[in-house]
Amino acid sequence: MLASGTHKIDLVMRKNIVAGNWKMNKNFEQAEDLVADLTEYFEENKPKCEVIVCPPFLYLEMASDYASESSVLNVSAQNVSAYDNGAYTGEISAEMLKGLDISYCIVGHSERRQYYNETDNQLAQKVDKLLDFSVAPIFCIGELLEERESNNHFSIVKEQLENGLFHLNADEFSNVVIAYEPVWAIGTGVVATPEQAQEMHAHIRELITEKYGDKIANDTTIMYGGSCNPKNAKILFANKDVDGGLIGGASLIAEDFVKIIESF
Ligand code: PEP
Repeated sequence: MLASGTHKIDLVMRKNIVAGNWKMNKNFEQAEDLVADLTEYFEENKPKCEVIVCPPFLYLEMASDYASESSVLNVSAQNVSAYDNGAYTGEISAEMLKGLDISYCIVGHSERRQYYNETDNQLAQKVDKLLDFSVAPIFCIGELLEERESNNHFSIVKEQLENGLFHLNADEFSNVVIAYEPVWAIGTGVVATPEQAQEMHAHIRELITEKYGDKIANDTTIMYGGSCNPKNAKILFANKDVDGGLIGGASLIAEDFVKIIESF
């Protein structure tokens, strides 16, 4: 069991997850409306997968309050500091997230890698800090378009996994969720084909098998992210190695997010 208190997660088992990455969107009122709508809806309609919302930092406390009253909703941060605490102006620590009862945190989203130059080394440190406080990392990996076009996508993803996660021991690794997000599919409306997604997810699982063995590989949750929407979610999630989705744009509208969740 990863977490204590009101947490609803047990990350040792592989599970289907749909997580909504809101990025830097919504004012407070809109954010609360969305969380309230989802909470209310799922009290009546039990989902067949785990549901996570990933609001901006300022809304985490509000979302966590709703989650503590909900049997369905879990909350994730979008980022965390690579440091414990101290003179790091503007940063938020893993301990602070834990203090708000936050269950998950996205690490290494391509926008953080691209716009904030986050390095594999920093990402590995962020993962360590989260695990210190039993917050489960949702670790994002994925290739750029030119990397896929030059047929380097498998080796890029392998490098990201090795550099960001493979320093962990088996127990630590069991508390990590992976999100495969081809960068060319994020926010572009160009979604990976079900075959492309399955092929890469199987590759990721194979790399985990080589490093940690069959059991841990089979127990690892690997979500797909990149222009997933109510129309394409079902066919993506039907693949045997695709354990749900990390959803950006389509998670901002309750109706669309619910439809994606109900693709399971
Ligand atoms: C994301 O930001 O993680 C993402 C998958 O975005 P979108 O669904 O908008 O492509």
